[in-house]
Amino acid sequence: MNEAGEVRAMQDGYFKKPYAIHGRYARSRGSFIALINSYDVEGKDCKMGYQKICELLNISRSTAVRTIKQAEAAGEISRVRNKTYTEYHMKDLISGEFERVEFCLYRLEFEIDGIKRKLTKSEIDVYSELYTKITDKQNKAKAYFGSAKSLSAILKMCPNTVIKSLRSLMKAGLVYRQKALSGHEKSRYTLNMEFVRQLERNRRRKAREKEKDAPKSEREQIAAALDERAERDRYYARLRAAAERIADDNRRRAFRDTEYKITDGKLSDAERRAARAEAFGAENLPELLAEVKRIKARKKALLSGMGMSEVDLQPRYHCKKCSDTGFLPDGRACDCYHPKR
Ligand SMILES: [Zn+2]
Repeated sequence: MNEAGEVRAMQDGYFKKPYAIHGRYARSRGSFIALINSYDVEGKDCKMGYQKICELLNISRSTAVRTIKQAEAAGEISRVRNKTYTEYHMKDLISGEFERVEFCLYRLEFEIDGIKRKLTKSEIDVYSELYTKITDKQNKAKAYFGSAKSLSAILKMCPNTVIKSLRSLMKAGLVYRQKALSGHEKSRYTLNMEFVRQLERNRRRKAREKEKDAPKSEREQIAAALDERAERDRYYARLRAAAERIADDNRRRAFRDTEYKITDGKLSDAERRAARAEAFGAENLPELLAEVKRIKARKKALLSGMGMSEVDLQPRYHCKKCSDTGFLPDGRACDCYHPKR
């Protein structure tokens, strides 16, 4: 299971459970529906196998199978089955305010009444509600003022279950309560912030790991290859331009010398005449070739007087094999590409 859609959504390590879900479904089904809804709201595909769903929501395989069948029969979700995973979608999106439910709450174990155990679905719902309200940036007091009754109204949960859940969460050291002084005031609930920070740290670490492991989509791979190709082209263009600029400068410097310029013109003229003489089998060919040789020597001497040689007038490429084009004559890529150097 390493579908790109799943990887992106899981990076955050939580899903969004709309308040509208509470009371509408049994807790397991509600969480499952919320999970799919969370993906759909963000325009992602929920691609999962049974094992993944069971793992994320801490439900048994039989519960997962039953939950999915019920949700499908009720027309709440649709699914497309593949070999290794199934793609789920909501028939009707559930929008509005939501609670933020951390996936790890389904996995972690806490010591409650001397027993190490995972949290129940109700405890997770109560904790998630407190977590969402208390960590909200608008909440300056970083506390939740309310009663079991108000929580039970929001979560559509029996007040006794809320009280029991709150007690367990406090015993687990996840939630603290300052009791109301009088009957008219509300209790003040705060979170164990060290645990919240730990959740954040785990989330960031997970996100980094997922980022590293995330298989690139075909499109991303093509885009990356194009980027790499463009970078390679720029690298060689820079090398060639540098070599050619030096040669151009040298040539300009040589041609600023009047005698060199005239000698160059003479050489072209002599070479032309020699070529014609060769083509027509003229008798004076040896003399013309001798003249070409003499003028060439003169040019060389003039250059040397300027502190240059003929190779200085040609671009001096870094790589003799590919002349800084990046490609060998047979079309293969040259091995001289070292962008970091
Ligand atoms: Zn090369």
